[in-house]
Parts: sequence; C-alpha cells; structure tokens
Amino acid sequence: MKPEDLLCPSPAGLYSPIGDFYVDPVRPVARALVTHGHSDHARAGHGAVLATRQTLDIMRLRYGPGFCGSEQPIEIGKEIELNGVRVGFHPAGHVLGSAQIALEYDGMRIVVSGDYKRRPDPTCSPFEPLRCDVFITEATFGLPVFNHPDPNAEIARLLTSLEQFPDRTHLVGAYALGKAQRLIALLRAEGYRRPIFIHGALTQLCDYYSSEGVELGDLRPATAESTDPATFRGEVVIGPPSSFNERWARRFADPLAIFASGWMMVRQRAKQRGVELPLVISDHADWRELTATLQEIAPSQVWVTHGREEALVRWCKLAGVAARPLHMVGYEDEGD
Ligand SMILES: [Zn+2]
Repeated sequence: MKPEDLLCPSPAGLYSPIGDFYVDPVRPVARALVTHGHSDHARAGHGAVLATRQTLDIMRLRYGPGFCGSEQPIEIGKEIELNGVRVGFHPAGHVLGSAQIALEYDGMRIVVSGDYKRRPDPTCSPFEPLRCDVFITEATFGLPVFNHPDPNAEIARLLTSLEQFPDRTHLVGAYALGKAQRLIALLRAEGYRRPIFIHGALTQLCDYYSSEGVELGDLRPATAESTDPATFRGEVVIGPPSSFNERWARRFADPLAIFASGWMMVRQRAKQRGVELPLVISDHADWRELTATLQEIAPSQVWVTHGREEALVRWCKLAGVAARPLHMVGYEDEGD
C-alpha cells in the first residue's frame, strides 16, 4: 500500500481516498477533519466536521451556529474509525484546541501536523511527537534565517518600553485567535497586573479562552470614541493586525506601534507596517524546531504542505529522508 492511498493532496485539500474525508479542506466538502480554528484551516460550509471540542467552539464563535451540517467532537488522545481508517487527534501546541491528526490503515500511519510549534505556550497543550511513516509538516518559517528568540525576552522588551515611554499608548497588533491571548498570558506570567485594553474583535475569543481556564486577568474594551484618549497613556492596547488601518487605531494618544509575529524577524516587514517595536513571537515552528522535530520523529517520509517548502525538502534529502513538497494553496498563515 502506498501512503497516497491513505492520504493525497487534492485541490480541495488533503484527501483520504480510503476514508473518504478531507483534512483542513479549503473548499466546502461532505466530511472534514479540522486541525485548528485559524480561518485558513477551518472554513465554514462543510457537511460534517470532526474536530476537538475547542476547535468546534472556536469555529462556532467565528462563523455562527450554522457553520457546518453536523459537528462531531473528538477527545484528544482518543481514536475512532472512519470507513476503516483509525483516526486520532493529538496536541499540536499551536493555539487552544489545536491538534495533529493521525491516520492509520493496514499498518500505514500518517500524521498531519497542521500548524505547530515546540515552544512552551501557557494557552495550549504542548506538541506531542508521534511515531509515523509519513509526517506532514508546514514550513511557514522553513529557512535557517528564521531563528525565533525566547518569547519571554520579547515580552521583557515590551515591559521595558512601557517603563521608558509612560506617556505613550502601547498599541500591539496580534492575531485574534491564539497570538493575542498568548501575548496577554505571557505578560501576566511576567507579573504585569495593569488592565489590558482589547479591540472589540478580540472580546469573544478572549472570553472563550478565559472560560477554558486560561488566565488573562483584567481585560477592558479599548473603545477610543467613548473614552478620554488619555486613559490609554502608558497602557497596553491590543488589536488584530487589520485594526491598525482602521480609524480606531488613530484615536489613541501618541501611539507606539508594536506587532507580535514571527515575521517580525524580517526587518523590511516591520518597516512596511510602520512598526516601532517588532516582537518576534510566533505560533509556528522556526527552522530549528522544524528540523529538530523531524529528527525526533524520524519518519520514513516527510511531506511539506506550504511555506518555504524547498529548503525543508532539501534539508530532508541531505539528512537521507525522502521528502516532497505538496505546494498546497489556500493556507495563508492567519496566526503567524
Ligand atoms: Zn494556524
């Protein structure tokens, strides 16, 4: 049996011919298995969706109750059978509810890791290395130049700036699902006790994380119209990246533009966005994490879905591991 009989790339996403289901499909399909709630992996309009309870909750919050025909929650670590294929979900360490999906049939085991990272994250369960024949990985930061610093050191830079510029509004851009909550939790872990002001687009997901036991502390709405702009001086205000282009962002007193993303490694990207304080905090594996994970799992084959595929494929070949790029389209790294 070839691995492709169990799972193969198709225009709608990774498809299992034996199981008759898709993983993270980018088009509406009859049966979807979804790794996590970022909008490039979790789309609305499928028939049946199998995912962790938290991913289903997140999809419902983002798309509304009718986001799919039927929801099927699966517990992390538990296995079920779909048309003879054994299916199990395991932690990916990416965002709350995120999972790798393990598929097994006739002794062949394929793991679709979705998006993942290996750094500790107070907002989700850590990545679990799984034995498999084929490991399917992303390569968003799949170049040796991507060497993410310790996130706590990045948080320390933010805290230093708050001390140095007590009159400026520290306006932080962070993705609405995962990054914003991780940033808040990291600040709290460093002892930051002041209220943190959040854009309206973050409220639902922050409330959800809190209800799932992630400590986010005192969060308040950052509604600049109804509040004296002086209120936000010296405070942390967090909004999704898109909010930086809205009128909302221009209402704050003397804003200091900050952005938290793995892309902040690239000076040019920070400059283009007008970011004064780039924070390199990523929910994806960097080059070292990617290669260390492949060494640890030691699969017989590596498939690379999207990102800087060629460099990682080349690394695998030099390491004597069969590898192929899948050139999957439609995965835009919502939560980098
Ligand atoms: Zn993601």
